[in-house]
Amino acid sequence: MMCDFLDRAVPGVRALTPYQPGKPESELRRELGLSEIVKLASNENPLGASQAAVAAARQALDEVGRYPDGNGFELKAALSEYLGVPANRLTLGNGSNDVLELVVRAFVSPGDEVVYSKHSFAVYALASQAVGATARVAPALREDATQPYGHDLVSMASLVGEATKVVFVANPNNPTGTWLGSAELLGFLDRLPSNVIAVVDEAYAEYVVVSDYDSLIDQVDRFPNLVVTRTFSKAFGLAGLRVGYAVSNPQVAELMNRVRQPFNVNSAALAAAKAALGDTDHIRESRELNTRQMSRLQAELSDLGLGILPSAANFLCVDTHQDAFRVFQALLSGGVIVRPIANYGLDRHLRITIGTPRENDRLIHVLRQVLG
Ligand SMILES: *Cc1c(COP(=O)(O)O)cnc(C)c1O
Repeated sequence: MMCDFLDRAVPGVRALTPYQPGKPESELRRELGLSEIVKLASNENPLGASQAAVAAARQALDEVGRYPDGNGFELKAALSEYLGVPANRLTLGNGSNDVLELVVRAFVSPGDEVVYSKHSFAVYALASQAVGATARVAPALREDATQPYGHDLVSMASLVGEATKVVFVANPNNPTGTWLGSAELLGFLDRLPSNVIAVVDEAYAEYVVVSDYDSLIDQVDRFPNLVVTRTFSKAFGLAGLRVGYAVSNPQVAELMNRVRQPFNVNSAALAAAKAALGDTDHIRESRELNTRQMSRLQAELSDLGLGILPSAANFLCVDTHQDAFRVFQALLSGGVIVRPIANYGLDRHLRITIGTPRENDRLIHVLRQVLG
């Protein structure tokens, strides 16, 4: 078959490697015929969504013959109250992934530069390469730093130049779990040229309990070039419905609105996200579970001789001191799915989502067999 058109695809797209999602549970179940699979590979909330959110999504299905509210009025109103920011600062997306792409589509042309850190979230590279941007990837902090492999804001700042349109900062970062203190991050924004968009990706903000961390959402009036992104996929447990948002200066929001698909967030997602915001107990329980189970796993994993990066999120980045892919595969055979992150430049490390107590028991049990 002649596919003459293939090499006519846009150069950025031809050079892309697609995002590799965590292995779905159903796939492993089929492969191994195992009944009990534990998936700790995609940083989902192990408690799932709030019951109120699920009920709201179900109810929204009654109206599924209608288009959703393209402006997301009710969700924006609820977010506005929840966050304490006016609704005209908000942009909704089909997951925060969508919002990240809106920023890129609104600001980045072929040949422009974007800056992000090594070992940072894969979507920054994907979204900017697809539009033909040149990525300037900053070396990460060293292994012996307080935040090993975390963002080095000094090296990131040094890569910002005339051609830089967007800088991406993940705080906390995925896949390392490392974070930036708010004083350091504000200092970086102070020095960043005001014509460069700073995206601060706070996908894990609801989980953070470390004392030197602050969300930057209340800084968007001070920094008109700041775009803070959040998601309902992690602590809110709505990964399957795809909802995220950005908080930015209204003029930036207006630009993103121009490139947004008119109905980018579906009606079940809008309803569920709004209800999820109202269930503060669920978020508190999710955060408390995460905090408790994180300290427990940190202790048990280091007893097994593994190295653990500091984390402010709902996962741990674990140094296996060997080819992590082998450990990943051995865990798979035991019915535990974690995430190898060699594609992030960390081939000795695994990223492990913090699960329920039972899931974590199982992880430790299988890991002990694998390493023993
Ligand atoms: C998971 C994640 C996201 C995106 O999640 P969505 O499901 O698209 O909202 C964004 N940034 C980081 C750092 C993440 O880990």
